[in-house]
Amino acid sequence: MQFSVPFFQHDLGKKELKAIKNVFETPILTTGHVVAQFEEQFSRYMGSQFALGVTSCTDALHLAMRVSDIGPGDEVITTAMTFLATATAILEAGATPVFVDVEPGTGNIDVEAVTQAITPRTKAIIPVHLYGQMVDMVALRKLADQHGLIIIEDAAHCIEGKRDGVRPGMLGDFACFSFYATKNITCGEGGAIITNQADLIDKMRLIYLHGMSQMASERAKKGYRHWDMVRMGWKFNMSNIDAAMLLPQLKRIDRNLKRRTTLAMRYRKKLAKLEGLALSTLYPNTRHCHHLMTVQVQGIPRDTMIERLQSQGVGVAVNYRPAVPLTKYFSETYGYQPGQFPQAEKISHETLSLPLYPLLKKKQVDFVVTAIAEALDKG
Ligand SMILES: *Cc1c(COP(=O)(O)O)cnc(C)c1O
Repeated sequence: MQFSVPFFQHDLGKKELKAIKNVFETPILTTGHVVAQFEEQFSRYMGSQFALGVTSCTDALHLAMRVSDIGPGDEVITTAMTFLATATAILEAGATPVFVDVEPGTGNIDVEAVTQAITPRTKAIIPVHLYGQMVDMVALRKLADQHGLIIIEDAAHCIEGKRDGVRPGMLGDFACFSFYATKNITCGEGGAIITNQADLIDKMRLIYLHGMSQMASERAKKGYRHWDMVRMGWKFNMSNIDAAMLLPQLKRIDRNLKRRTTLAMRYRKKLAKLEGLALSTLYPNTRHCHHLMTVQVQGIPRDTMIERLQSQGVGVAVNYRPAVPLTKYFSETYGYQPGQFPQAEKISHETLSLPLYPLLKKKQVDFVVTAIAEALDKG
């Protein structure tokens, strides 16, 4: 399909190409000094003590659970309104996902519902900072501390976020990030995990590379050394090529956020005048990452809106349908039924994501708004 307003366009270019070229001129393509540089700059941007570049946010979530010895018999509470990966990471760790419903205005996990879901087997909570607005981490941390639970933040939408002075990874034990193709910074596929727990760093570095005692880059530097496998490990390490692509983007991350914020506010101002749509609630005292520009379509069926917008050349997406526990796999495996997550289900039926990225033009925003207004008028 040819779109006059594509749903997403990356803004990678000359700077990223040059950074990749520089890597090609060194012997180490895999994890090495460029990854170390990215980790240093990413942790500085996040204000965390430590960052590790990994292959995806899914793997970062999995790693956080592995390094915390969460596995079979343990329950991990998460939100019904998220991408699959939040939940499948819990399965990869061998633990049991326990889904809870969300707040109606933002789609963020309902902290009161988390309280209700805690059992003696609960080990961790995975909140998702949905669409770019942070969950109330102060309330969640307090709850977790009362029950001795770990918090692993799924911050795939929320690198730049802040709420009441709190940033991702500040109150959580870990925060996990995605650099997948459409995320706010990207290397096609990639991720990172941050933590302030210095005692876990060595264990994380072991688990994320086969449990091997020597990295390839160290062998290259010091000459061949025998290595051993000292514990079970997986394969989550980021490459120098990916890190090179990310470094220039980190420099413009705040500028890009400013641009998306301007565009999102333009959408909101214009869309607020239309009947048949609901805009998300904006928390006070919060820096919204505007990762996704969502609206809830209420005047006509959401899927009718999708057809009409696409026929006008407007690219759209749905984040997310169905609610994760109601996917075929989760409902058949765990017996979840429609009606158990009323707020998440309502969002999954109504939500629509509109084009939002730094290269989007104001004129294109106006074109999308006009197309939405026309679609609603047709009834
Ligand atoms: C994109 C995304 C993920 C998965 O990220 P990957 O890097 O593709 O593994 C996890 N959670 C949320 C909320 C996402 O949007």
